[in-house]
Amino acid sequence: MSDPYMPLTSVRSGTGFEAAKGVHGLTVQIANVYFIQLPSEPRSFVLIDAGMPQSADMIVSEAKQRFGDDFQLRAIILTHGHFDHIGAIEGILEHWDVPVYVHSREMPYVTGKEDYPPARPDSKSGLVAKLSPLFPRHSIDISTHVQTLPEDGSVPFLDEWMWIATPGHTPGHISLFREDGRVLVAGDAVITVEQEKMADVLIQKQELHGPPAYFTPDTEMAAESIQKLAGLEPEALLTGHGIPMNGKNFRSDLIELANRLASL
Ligand SMILES: [Zn+2]
Ligand SMILES: [Zn+2]
Repeated sequence: MSDPYMPLTSVRSGTGFEAAKGVHGLTVQIANVYFIQLPSEPRSFVLIDAGMPQSADMIVSEAKQRFGDDFQLRAIILTHGHFDHIGAIEGILEHWDVPVYVHSREMPYVTGKEDYPPARPDSKSGLVAKLSPLFPRHSIDISTHVQTLPEDGSVPFLDEWMWIATPGHTPGHISLFREDGRVLVAGDAVITVEQEKMADVLIQKQELHGPPAYFTPDTEMAAESIQKLAGLEPEALLTGHGIPMNGKNFRSDLIELANRLASL
């Protein structure tokens, strides 16, 4: 059964945007999903993450409005299984019966086997952090659709992309990278808004941050993952929360952020 609507939103909710060449973003209340186009089949897409609870209609209608009725979804890839990244997945799968791919370490959280650990409301100040114990953290069960990502780092349907293990925020968190444009889809490994602060979330104040602290049990590993992402020298940061950042090499910013997190 899906979770109820969560009354957390931002001024950009419902806004679709061109995030990078062939990558279309949509802000769903406080979280972003991305439609990535298959270069060989321009009407076909892979969806990265699945939004907030009760947002399937918003995601489906964005796809149809933006890409037309011959839009085809080929697969869904989850950066991780938190409620704000899988919230609409059951509704989306009812609409498009497609495979879902996750890292093997994330599998327990999407097959009804394990819940995420309790939130840490005191990990960082801010109203969203304070509210975090109210957020769903239970495992969903999409066993009939879910498969593990190929171990060689390749991404199903997306030849130009690779996936990178970026644990810390969750054990099986992944990011996706494309050399063309040096585009990084980072999920929650690194985000561009201070997610703990309600006022910043509401206006989507653009600032580079580590993963939401209240839901990150292993900060040290999260810092190592950001170091790893810095090594890719991304020039476009497309994140699970916040407005994408474009147009410069983010290597030193990411290293600085990783060092700051590691010293906490
Ligand atoms: Zn998360
Ligand atoms: Zn998130």
